[in-house]
Amino acid sequence: MPSLDRIARSFLLWEVAAGFALTLKYMFRPKVTVNYPYERSPQGPRFRGEHALRRYPNGEERCIACKLCEAICPAQAITIEAEPREDGSRRATRYDIDMTKCIYCGFCQEACPVDAIVEGPTLEFCTETREELLYNKDKLLANGDRWESLIAATLEADARYR
Ligand code: SF4
Ligand code: SF4
Repeated sequence: MPSLDRIARSFLLWEVAAGFALTLKYMFRPKVTVNYPYERSPQGPRFRGEHALRRYPNGEERCIACKLCEAICPAQAITIEAEPREDGSRRATRYDIDMTKCIYCGFCQEACPVDAIVEGPTLEFCTETREELLYNKDKLLANGDRWESLIAATLEADARYR
């Protein structure tokens, strides 16, 4: 048996009135939706987006092929091969990331002793094929060159917390 209260609410269209009141309440408040991609919400310095390999200001690759990032990656998404150069320095001859495996945990960035591998500021790297998400060293270095100023700024902003 419906209670008297429920019957009265039904006759007085209480739910409809409450719904209109809620609509009116939010109609005059500032909008919280963002018209993406024309507008963007602010991004924190710890945002973990597409990976990039960085260079030093003189153009030399930062990565010394220590393989710490490869070892720590929980998804086993990173593959590195290395050879010593003629001058005795050690650099990666192959640096691949299978972005379809990556879980964007950021461990590779945390493990890197020279801030070479980083997760950059971009999230817009969807592709039409799986193969396009198999990143090699050239692709990662190109990302680093493209985003270096932003990456350097975010690393500096976060430096005192690391
Ligand atoms: S973000 Fe995590 S899962 Fe992705 S490559 Fe780095 S360590 Fe591996
Ligand atoms: S990116 Fe960093 S952690 Fe990974 S191999 Fe290169 S120097 Fe080592």
